[in-house]
Amino acid sequence: MMRICVKSEILKAGNLIETKDDFVIVGHIRPDGDAVGSLLALSRCLQRIGKQVVPVLVDGVPQTLTFIADTDEIRTEFPDEYGALIAVDVSDLGRLGVDSAQLNGQPDLNIDHHPTNTNFAAINIVQPTAAATTQILYDFILELDLPLDPQIATHLMLGLVTDTIGFRTSNVSAKTLNVAAALIDHGAVLTEVYQNSLNRRSFVAARYWGQGLTRLEQHNGVVITSLTLEDREIAGYPGIDDANLINVLSTIEEAQVAILLVEQEGGSVKISWRSKDHVNVAELATSFGGGGHLRAAGAIISGELETVKQEVLAASLVAINGVMELDK
Ligand code: 5GP
Ligand code: MN
Repeated sequence: MMRICVKSEILKAGNLIETKDDFVIVGHIRPDGDAVGSLLALSRCLQRIGKQVVPVLVDGVPQTLTFIADTDEIRTEFPDEYGALIAVDVSDLGRLGVDSAQLNGQPDLNIDHHPTNTNFAAINIVQPTAAATTQILYDFILELDLPLDPQIATHLMLGLVTDTIGFRTSNVSAKTLNVAAALIDHGAVLTEVYQNSLNRRSFVAARYWGQGLTRLEQHNGVVITSLTLEDREIAGYPGIDDANLINVLSTIEEAQVAILLVEQEGGSVKISWRSKDHVNVAELATSFGGGGHLRAAGAIISGELETVKQEVLAASLVAINGVMELDK
């Protein structure tokens, strides 16, 4: 049933691609490797069949991902005019980072793997079991007979490698590894993507981690810390992200749930949650207006860092203890 449904949406998407000439493709705010990889892969596919494409990330490309080809083509301004709008790796309209008044009505196509996706487009291809949006795009490209060259394969591999932190998250399936193998056959170099995206960091990023690690706390299964604007300045870290510190916190043995709070300009805090098992952090994040996956989720909350931290910690402890009681 699900398969038929997805198949009919793919056919509608094929029709959209065939009938329109100029596309805007958008990935989510504060983009990660899956957003960048999905955006670049689909953009190049459509360009190669003669379509006009404007790839957009309103927050730009994180410096750490600029090793990937074509990132210099990505724009930060959303164009006034376009034939069709495609969102990739975007769970809801808020994550586009574009004022709804700027849109030409409802987006045309939504390709995503977040379980919290709101099916906001006219055509929705949403598969929460996929480890990355690029995993869905691989099938999409094959189904619609779109081009798949070594560069597109590399873009798709970037999404797989980063969203699964090197194929080690619980949503990695045989399908994920089969897609990765096929991408290698199509010319992606796994070690290059892996080393550049996951196993390399700047000196200032390591110093930024240091600031956060000195304040690490542990409370009943929760391991939590924060990065302040002052930490960023002291370390000299140029990005608005967490330099992937959350991936380090999630490896701590005692952490059933790892939480990182990153203070933002303008009085808000970005929260990242990671859980090893039991706790559904997508639910937790949604209760704070965010979203994500069962084991990895996030939200942006208005308020002062310390207040937000206490609220988030309290809710996360309740989530863990509730589940523990059920296990008894
Ligand atoms: P991260 O903690 O690495 O920013 O995000 C973890 C997961 O949660 C990603 O899949 C990301 O797309 C999602 N996510 C992070 N922040 C938000 C948010 O503010 N809203 C929603 N809906 N999803 C988020
Ligand atoms: Mn993703």
